[in-house]
Amino acid sequence: MNSPHLANGEPVPAIAVRGLHKHYGNHEVLKGIDFFVDAGQVVCVIGPSGSGKSTLLRCVNRLEEPSAGEILIEGVDICDPETDLDEMRSRIGMVFQQFNLFPHLSVLKNLTLAQRNVRGRSKDEAVQIARQNLEKVGLSTKESAYPAHLSGGQQQRVAIARALSMKPDMMLFDEPTSALDPELVGDVLGVMKELAQEGMTMMVVTHEMGFAREVGDKLVFMDGGVVVEEGLPVEVLSNPQHERTQSFLSKVL
Ligand code: ADP
Ligand code: MG
Repeated sequence: MNSPHLANGEPVPAIAVRGLHKHYGNHEVLKGIDFFVDAGQVVCVIGPSGSGKSTLLRCVNRLEEPSAGEILIEGVDICDPETDLDEMRSRIGMVFQQFNLFPHLSVLKNLTLAQRNVRGRSKDEAVQIARQNLEKVGLSTKESAYPAHLSGGQQQRVAIARALSMKPDMMLFDEPTSALDPELVGDVLGVMKELAQEGMTMMVVTHEMGFAREVGDKLVFMDGGVVVEEGLPVEVLSNPQHERTQSFLSKVL
């Protein structure tokens, strides 16, 4: 990844969100969010249901149109009409709660399709990259399987391998383990932890406080469309400063 720098010598954040507002009709869902992820950082986002976590994440690659504010990806304004949105999105891997695999395609085809159509890779190259990533998530033996024949945890690892096959600069995860049976959560978190250790830039919406504490560089608590509190995960989790954070954590920890 190229790492551009600001005039003062500081590296440009991978993700910089400033003053982000989003409303649906009269319903204001994001009420002025400032949010930063540095290159190589893992930022975990927690908060009650409906607090705007998914909306924030979806604004970051413009699956949602911001109502006001600024979003810079590696220093480039994604709302600038000059910005090539497809190129920008290809640098951002997304993994959702529902795995969103193509049910009628084998695992290998799920991993090669966008590489060929979006990245324009040859079949051989796409297959080679797909196999590397299947190995990374521990599913080398499943390349011919169809999604319906895999467990939820395996499907989510395929979804991660698919996103990685695009060779993104950063990965966004929206509650990647929330749809999984408890015994399948660990394998998915293990893959994510390995990615983090390799230096991948990650934004992770999650309820897995153990993961946030162990892997996260920063923890952001959202409630009611604002960032209420953020800091080192161990500090936010063990010594929350805000009453709303304390109340939320007392329910989930
Ligand atoms: P979270 O991910 O924290 O649970 P969301 O970002 O999904 O929260 O939702 C925040 C609020 O925005 C909720 O009140 C939700 O009902 C509302 N919302 C989300 N998407 C839409 C939409 N497409 N149209 C209208 N309201 C929406
Ligand atoms: Mg959500």
